[in-house]
Amino acid sequence: MKSYINTDNTQISEHFNVQEFKCKCGNTHDILIDTSLIDKLEKLRAALNCSKIIVTSGYRCTKHDAFVSTGNGQHTKGTAADIVCYGQDGKPISSKLVCCKAQDLGFTGIANITSDYDRTHVDVRSSGKWYGNEVCGNGNVTSDFYNYYGIIRNDSRKILVKGIDVSYAQGNINWSHVKTDGVKFALIRAGYGKELSQKDGQFENNYAGCKSNGVPCGAYWYSYAKSAEEARQEAKTCLQVIGGKTFEYPIYFDLEEPSQFELGKKICSDMVQAFCDEIEKAGYYSGLYCSTSYLDSHISDSIKNRYAIWVAQYNDKCTYTGDYGIWQHGAAGHPEYDFTNTGSIPGVDGQCDLNYGYIDYPDIIKKYGLNGFSKPDSKSDIEEPKSEKSTLEQILDHVASIDNKLS
Ligand SMILES: [Zn+2]
Ligand SMILES: [Zn+2]
Repeated sequence: MKSYINTDNTQISEHFNVQEFKCKCGNTHDILIDTSLIDKLEKLRAALNCSKIIVTSGYRCTKHDAFVSTGNGQHTKGTAADIVCYGQDGKPISSKLVCCKAQDLGFTGIANITSDYDRTHVDVRSSGKWYGNEVCGNGNVTSDFYNYYGIIRNDSRKILVKGIDVSYAQGNINWSHVKTDGVKFALIRAGYGKELSQKDGQFENNYAGCKSNGVPCGAYWYSYAKSAEEARQEAKTCLQVIGGKTFEYPIYFDLEEPSQFELGKKICSDMVQAFCDEIEKAGYYSGLYCSTSYLDSHISDSIKNRYAIWVAQYNDKCTYTGDYGIWQHGAAGHPEYDFTNTGSIPGVDGQCDLNYGYIDYPDIIKKYGLNGFSKPDSKSDIEEPKSEKSTLEQILDHVASIDNKLS
């Protein structure tokens, strides 16, 4: 808990300023703000991919709280905020979704406030838990917002397609067998490091196999960079390898070397930005492959929200709370990591990583003429994606981000 004088305009975190939490009573008393409230608000902002969060009410003195509420609520302790979360389209995000995400992030007091479902109360009370919906009266307390509002959890989002990722390690792959097994996409290792000689030994074979069997593919580059400049060099080498080809899926920066994470969050984030920026400038949709734990600890929110995320977590559920397009959930041929009892992928000898795809990348990439594809001539060629709303919303978010990237 911190106390600030009334005129203090300290930037307390990347996106929040003391003044936003000032009491609305008009007097010049101090402002109380709990630091864990700010920490959670930043996480909520990232998890919902907000363009902004407006705090409509933060700290309240007891007098003002008595005027608008009970006079001794969480707002008087500096542990609460009433907020409106805005999406990348500039419109308020439904309070129903905000409540669900706030629940995931461990806010202990959460409630929808308005009948328009655009304003949400969140707090970090230290004792007990309160989930409410003030529209239905304060007695209407829920134990799980996902159930209450009928919202599908992020980790059980509708899987669009199943895919695999491969490298020289799988040797010669029989892509026609892979195709008939129902594998809908493949992410192929293009190479590693800075040198052209480090092109993956099976890249050309795998690419040709995907193309001749109609398996949509993307590529990834295994990084050994130790600085943004080295990551940029890796991107240039990657571009030499992938040039002249077409990819229906993004081109990913593969960040997983322990010696890279030792460099800290700033350098890791800078390296991702440098690589992805270089790839984007050449007209490709770029992204990051990284594990949930390192995405949480070593990549800044702005980078996570900016590029396509391919999250790795060998588990029966993905706990990454940010947005992601692909989840690498396990490995066939590896008893410990084969959570779906896949056993093996026909056409691939031995172990093979398994992925779920949640976003229709081929549609987006072709529509916008990225990754070696040429842009369709007229707008009439663009069809509305025929997906359920949550998926459509994700696609539109990504389309909007591509527009920003290319403008
Ligand atoms: Zn006041
Ligand atoms: Zn409130």
